[in-house]
Amino acid sequence: MVRQYVFLTSSSYSGSTLMAFMLGSHSRIATVGEARGIIREIKPSDYYCSCGQKYLLCSFWQEVELRMQTKMSDGFCMEALHTKFIPKSLNPLDKLQFQNLRLAPLEKLRDSLYRSSGKHRGYVNNIVAHCRALAESVTDICGKEIFFDTSKTPSAIIHLNKNLRVPFKVVFLMRDGRGVFNSFIKKKIPLPEDTIIKEWLRKNRQIERAIQGMPEVNVCTVLYEDLCREPEKTLKRICDFIGVDYEEGCLRFWDYEHHIVGNNMRLNVKRQIQPDERWRHTLTPQQLVCFERTAGKYNKRWGYG
Ligand SMILES: [Zn+2]
Repeated sequence: MVRQYVFLTSSSYSGSTLMAFMLGSHSRIATVGEARGIIREIKPSDYYCSCGQKYLLCSFWQEVELRMQTKMSDGFCMEALHTKFIPKSLNPLDKLQFQNLRLAPLEKLRDSLYRSSGKHRGYVNNIVAHCRALAESVTDICGKEIFFDTSKTPSAIIHLNKNLRVPFKVVFLMRDGRGVFNSFIKKKIPLPEDTIIKEWLRKNRQIERAIQGMPEVNVCTVLYEDLCREPEKTLKRICDFIGVDYEEGCLRFWDYEHHIVGNNMRLNVKRQIQPDERWRHTLTPQQLVCFERTAGKYNKRWGYG
């Protein structure tokens, strides 16, 4: 039974997989990392679970599939968990109801137009029902009661908070934008550098808008650098926020069984906790100037000097 749904939101490359491993090692918290499922760029048959098994052959995920099939009547399968708020099957016009429109007033107008649409409510209710069923299945299999979802997507926060009917909390994980910028460059993401920085800014502002309407007690902001430099202190604060006692096992997450999906970090777990601050010597002076010009002010607001 799932008693609480904790959702992690952040920009990409901010340490969400690390936090999934840490909290998933707690005796009361269950996670599969990104509950929105495996990344679409990889064929499900070629995708690996963090346990080392192929995803489709992992006995944990097969058990999840069996349980989900008894809860959902629409032919649930592991290839598509139906937990993404922009269903792949939607046509481009219908996708507009979930997409980030980049301008807050435009999104407000869009949301007020769709609010009365039965078709829209149908989509939302169906996705929320899948999220709840997945959380129930995973917590039941693990014998735990709190579900931790690191899907990150800001739009999911609004729909889950409103419709989940399970106590809902959000962890907002922030990382120095220069570290995020460096990770994007390392991955050779084919975007101009100032676009990468603008996307990071835009994503954070979208998150801020999504959590705006939530009670303060239900939102916890965590810095990635604090999590890595002072993991015990930071995890105690997070556990306190979730309402569970801190457990030392969270610091030795490699000793526990995990079935995490999401980005490649899940397959590359290090047996130590250290902040990745390679940006300090790999970003060029020109790249640092470009970052400063576009996002320096916002980054400083978070204490990154
Ligand atoms: Zn597995």
